[in-house]
Amino acid sequence: MPATTKVVERTPRTLMEQIYYPEVLKGLGVTMGRFFRNTFGREETVTVEYPEVRRPHPARYRGHHYLTVRFDGSVACVACMLCPTICPAACIHIEAAEHPDPSIEKYPVRFEIDLLRCIYCGLCEEACPKDAIRMTSGIHPVPHTDRPSFRVGLDRLVDPSKTTRCDHGPERPGTPFD
Ligand code: SF4
Ligand code: SF4
Repeated sequence: MPATTKVVERTPRTLMEQIYYPEVLKGLGVTMGRFFRNTFGREETVTVEYPEVRRPHPARYRGHHYLTVRFDGSVACVACMLCPTICPAACIHIEAAEHPDPSIEKYPVRFEIDLLRCIYCGLCEEACPKDAIRMTSGIHPVPHTDRPSFRVGLDRLVDPSKTTRCDHGPERPGTPFD
């Protein structure tokens, strides 16, 4: 079937539009109207008084990464290297070591994410077979004034209050799943 082309008719500019200044004044009128409505009709404005008031993030918002822990408090990550392999920004760096527990092969001695390179695609949490890395913190990446502070390591990634869903150990009552 041949593609159809929609032709949009161009309307010629009126004399007032060609004079130009009346259109500028019309634009300024809209701006001033908004200004006064936002200043004196606060109940109609959509402005959020950040940081005192914060909008809730959508349920699927990808925020600051965190690493979950097992029920015994150890890091759930088994250093399988799937997340650094799939990461399109190459911003995850892991050094693995042998785990003292023979039932667990490895664990990360170093786990670092460069938040300035991360594009928040969420592929790392989708690839993880252990539900060890998540982005459901609801926290924006915290601003810093120097680049090294954006390289977050285990000390800033491990959230002891978040337990992995994949831990097959004994269930604890009130485990904070999210
Ligand atoms: S969100 Fe995407 S870019 Fe960021 S660390 Fe995960 S996989 Fe890499
Ligand atoms: S966070 Fe998950 S995917 Fe990444 S190395 Fe650890 S276990 Fe593997």
